Amino acid sequence: MTNAKPFISIQIGAISFVDEGVPQVLDVLQERGAVNALLLANPTWTRGTGGRQVPGQPFPDHGKREPDDFHGGAYNRLHPQYYGKTAISAAYGHTDPEIPASFDLFEAVLPEAERRGMRSYAWMEESSNSRYLHDVPNFRKALEVDVWGRPSNKPCFNNPDYRYWILGRMEDYARSWPLAGIVWCSERTGPLNHLIGNRGRYRARDIACFCEHCQTKGRARGYDPARAIEGYRALYEWYERAMYGAGQPGSRENRPADGYFVTFWRTLLRYPEILAWEQLWSDSQHQLSREIYGVIKDADPKKEVGVHVYHEISFSPWYRAEEDYADLKKYHDWLKIVIYNNCAGPRFHGFVGNLCRALFADASPAEVYPLMLRLLNLEEAPYEALPTAGFSADYVRRETERAVRGVNDEIPIYPGIDIDIPTEAGESKCTPQGVRDAVKGAFAGGAKGVVLSRKYSEMRLDNLAGAGQAVRELGLA
Ligand SMILES: [Zn+2]
Repeated sequence: MTNAKPFISIQIGAISFVDEGVPQVLDVLQERGAVNALLLANPTWTRGTGGRQVPGQPFPDHGKREPDDFHGGAYNRLHPQYYGKTAISAAYGHTDPEIPASFDLFEAVLPEAERRGMRSYAWMEESSNSRYLHDVPNFRKALEVDVWGRPSNKPCFNNPDYRYWILGRMEDYARSWPLAGIVWCSERTGPLNHLIGNRGRYRARDIACFCEHCQTKGRARGYDPARAIEGYRALYEWYERAMYGAGQPGSRENRPADGYFVTFWRTLLRYPEILAWEQLWSDSQHQLSREIYGVIKDADPKKEVGVHVYHEISFSPWYRAEEDYADLKKYHDWLKIVIYNNCAGPRFHGFVGNLCRALFADASPAEVYPLMLRLLNLEEAPYEALPTAGFSADYVRRETERAVRGVNDEIPIYPGIDIDIPTEAGESKCTPQGVRDAVKGAFAGGAKGVVLSRKYSEMRLDNLAGAGQAVRELGLA
């Protein structure tokens, strides 16, 4: 980054420009949010970054206040010549009825943004389990294989068709458009972390990947894939008994004689391949990021490569252990760390509650919660109050500071700031003051900018203005 000014960016999807008009939206972003960079959700197949408001949530005070039929896809012209090494189709344009076929997000926004001195990025959420994504011709042939040997519901990082489809896209975008850079986002965990962190349902099809490519990679590391599969089946069955045995999840009736934690650990000891396969999965996810970096830099060394590090990093010490900032800095120009403070309250409440239905079911959430805070270097409201209190602005400062230290302050950290990320009725909601304090917390922690998240189409304008107020009060605008 050569910008002297802080990076005040916002995630925004195509629908907002179609519904509200390009100059009109940019006016609002600049005036209210002091925004100087756009993370254009493209392509996307997820409601987290694309489409209007999440169904069932109240519409914000701008945009069309009616439900849309969001499917997702690419909102720009694609160039098939970059997809020659993959069987997955290069034709993955969108089918959203609200967006005219003639609308090209980049053609519509990039020139106007540039005129205003705003930087534009392609913001790519992997959207791995979207069925509309899976409908892209030949995509389903690149799915992971689950613990029972069945095609799963997400693509495999070691499948060459998937890898070359993503890398083809990166080359296409990097060479074809005057973007400032590309931001990649892969919000998923490996099989072990999926079991530990899953909030609610466990499905064998989520325990992956044991496809031929992953098995080959495992063998090359000296591990027997059959033992990994056996281990994960044993662990899956351990979870099934804990959750759906004779009694309620994590109940005394379901408790093994030696306790939940001891028998969980015993399974890891019997099958060290469980940890080995988790690491293999995580390494494969990171390897794709390394290749993305290389492809984009080869196309244009000036283009920035950012990555989104998702919310699990705040909640799960097991996931945190896999996301080493000192490593991530080697193949990214900057990191967007999710530090969504408002929705963190309900989310962490659910995360701890879930731990106490299996792995830590020997104890209660009220007992486990204080230890989790210590392990994660957090200081938040009492457990019962979390859903209505949310997390504090000090959480934003702490997690920013940890990331800045993690990268040795060598690349910029841009915390993701929560602006109206949906929570349930009765749970904590964002306020202008809360957003302002979160942005100030980010800069107090050493951030070089922020990413206002998750999408403009779910943000209330007064809450967006809270971000702009912080930037101006800090003298950064
Ligand atoms: Zn695989």
